[in-house]
Amino acid sequence: MSTRRIFLKRVGLSTLALGIPMAETLKAMENTKEDKVLRVAIMGLGSYGTRVADAMKDCKRAKLVGVVSGTPSKITDWQSKYDIPAKNCYNYENFDQIKDNPDIDIVYMTTPNSLHKPHCLRIAAAGKHVISEKPMALNAAEGREMVAACKKAGVHLMVGYRMHFELKTLEVVRMQRAGELGKTLFFQGLSGFIIGDPTQWRLDPALAGGGAMMDIGVYSINGARYMLGEEPTWITAQEVKNDPVKFKEGVDETITFQMGFPSGAVASCLSTYSLNNLDKFFLNGTKGFAEMQPSTGYGPIKAWTNKGPIEREHVTHQTVQMDEMAAIILDGKKPMIPVDGEEGLKDLVIVDAIYEAVKTGQKVTLS
Ligand code: NDP
Repeated sequence: MSTRRIFLKRVGLSTLALGIPMAETLKAMENTKEDKVLRVAIMGLGSYGTRVADAMKDCKRAKLVGVVSGTPSKITDWQSKYDIPAKNCYNYENFDQIKDNPDIDIVYMTTPNSLHKPHCLRIAAAGKHVISEKPMALNAAEGREMVAACKKAGVHLMVGYRMHFELKTLEVVRMQRAGELGKTLFFQGLSGFIIGDPTQWRLDPALAGGGAMMDIGVYSINGARYMLGEEPTWITAQEVKNDPVKFKEGVDETITFQMGFPSGAVASCLSTYSLNNLDKFFLNGTKGFAEMQPSTGYGPIKAWTNKGPIEREHVTHQTVQMDEMAAIILDGKKPMIPVDGEEGLKDLVIVDAIYEAVKTGQKVTLS
């Protein structure tokens, strides 16, 4: 007997005893759709795609069922490693045919940044939901196209913001929203690592769309927004380049940036490809502070406030993310911090403003 049928049988007995109309209970159960699983194809079988695939082995609501790859040998490896049938394997030329595949619900793009937009448009046209890795696109104009295409196709567009489901992060956000830190007036976000191989796509502006800002800096942008719970109205930014050979034109090595918010709060952030162990969020309010270090790595995340440490269970971020994204799509669940295309677009508007502020040396005002 299926889990759902067993559950309905149990619920039926108990609700009759409580006098709750059976129809209402059945309707509530239909909404949870607890038997349904989100069937996922991963596009781009690289380092992060592999991490997501491994994490999904522990998911209850999401299942890896397909792949899109430009490397035939990886497809064969993944077929045996993750038990993927040949009918669910595609390459970048033929993946539009996914529209005729009823066994795939969503495509998760873990490809270089510049491929997110064109592939998203094709996935949406095929009638499948889309998860894009961060950054969602190269700029806000591309992001808007993605949001519009998914809306037109009636499919979900989400961004792989795994921190939006991380328990210590959510506790700090809850405290901030509940006013437990008082009025939060200052956020500091420090995001960086030393990048290796100079030939990798992350240092190719055509594929990456920039440098550290597009890769690691987006964590501080996104973090400032969810930690303070508001959108910035102005941006200033300064670039420092110590190695112009490795970090060529169009690839930022280090950028410091500041953001001002309607409440009067300010954020001061650093994005760099030249410092390791740089992964810290600090939020200060009139009544207290919260600090996280590491704040966005794969964890365990460490967090504490002026009252002491925040203790929460560490669960592999990508496992929680995929189960929660399944609940968003299958049950209409609303996450505490959004992960939809509009959320990705808000970050891209700020990325554009940071690059403009660096180029012009001027303060950029956002409406
Ligand atoms: P990798 O280089 O490890 O993998 C990218 C994969 O994309 C490749 O293996 C390849 O897979 C495919 N691909 C298609 N076209 C190209 C191309 N022209 N050049 C290179 N690869 C290509 O990158 P990552 O996995 O580290 O990053 C992928 C995305 O995930 C990025 O957007 C990045 O920002 C994001 N990311 C997110 C993280 C997070 O914590 N949320 C962490 C790390 C990355 P195939 O051979 O199968 O086609």
